[in-house]
Amino acid sequence: MQLLTIGAFARLSRLSPKALRLYDELGLLRPARVDGASGYRFYSPDQLERARLVAWLRRVGMPLAKIAEVCDLPAPAAAGAVSDFLTLLEADLSERKGLALSLIAYLSGSETAMPAPHLTIRYAAASDIGRERDRNQDSAYAGPRLLAVADGLGPGGDAASESVIEALRPLESAESPGDLLNALSDAVSAATSSLRSRSESDPEFAGSGSTLTAMLWSGAQLALVHIGDTRAYLLRDGGLFQITHDHSVVQSLIDAGRLTPEEAVSHPQRSLLLRALGAGDDGRPDVSLHDAVAGDRYLLCSDGLTSVVPVAVIRETLNEPESAPGEVVQRLIELANAAGGPDNIACVVADVTGAA
Ligand code: MG
Repeated sequence: MQLLTIGAFARLSRLSPKALRLYDELGLLRPARVDGASGYRFYSPDQLERARLVAWLRRVGMPLAKIAEVCDLPAPAAAGAVSDFLTLLEADLSERKGLALSLIAYLSGSETAMPAPHLTIRYAAASDIGRERDRNQDSAYAGPRLLAVADGLGPGGDAASESVIEALRPLESAESPGDLLNALSDAVSAATSSLRSRSESDPEFAGSGSTLTAMLWSGAQLALVHIGDTRAYLLRDGGLFQITHDHSVVQSLIDAGRLTPEEAVSHPQRSLLLRALGAGDDGRPDVSLHDAVAGDRYLLCSDGLTSVVPVAVIRETLNEPESAPGEVVQRLIELANAAGGPDNIACVVADVTGAA
């Protein structure tokens, strides 16, 4: 078969020669032949289909590591992977849209111009010691405006997670917080300062800290604050989406392509955190603003659930028809304990409902 030069192949595949060289280095698209003397790359016409797929997936905005995975899948599975990616893009866009809309309203001085939909939440929270620990360092809280889980670490981990949630509770009764994100961020800063000052004055507390995943509602929007490896998930139209990103060593290895999510589950350092409140140097939480949509269900949970109960089982449990938040919380805790309950377990489930 007649091989094509890199220039000819680039024109036909709509990829630049520079991109082709990069994809070769990454193992995404290897040339059919490389001339030993000149180093010139040659491609087979048979490779055009893969090259075009790569080009299209790049235009969709898929990261290269993900493209490499998708290209090796049979067509129906690849279609599924692209569809999953689209769902992620849509969730990301709707998050940015929420932030952009609130910024537009703020900048044009018309915060009250848009009528807020009358949404409320039904909620439940619980934490459980599990089967192997002698102390429960997880805390969970749910109220009409605030949802939170915290997983304490260090010698005073139980007090740390409780005090973080305690610092957020005034948000529940505060007058309508005009700026949800700032209200939540300020409360988190207050929690951090109190953890730090206690660590300085009490040697037995030194090195203690806590993760935090919390949501504050306004009826139309919700602000999310997150640090550590507690998580928030959104169940929408039957699909389950993790909307927080773990600040853990294993997650950073997954992001760098050095570990697969399957390998991460049994990784010996899976509980090592890169960020937490009060412990270490980096206490910056991630913050984001989301639109509240009637019918959505949120799950906030600690790693005592996600490290032993597969995501597919969590999704199935959240999807149970007619299941009230309280039943789901109990069921998830039972599942974690049935899987050995090696760690404390904290769960919060909240349903967004229409007009109250
Ligand atoms: Mg834990």
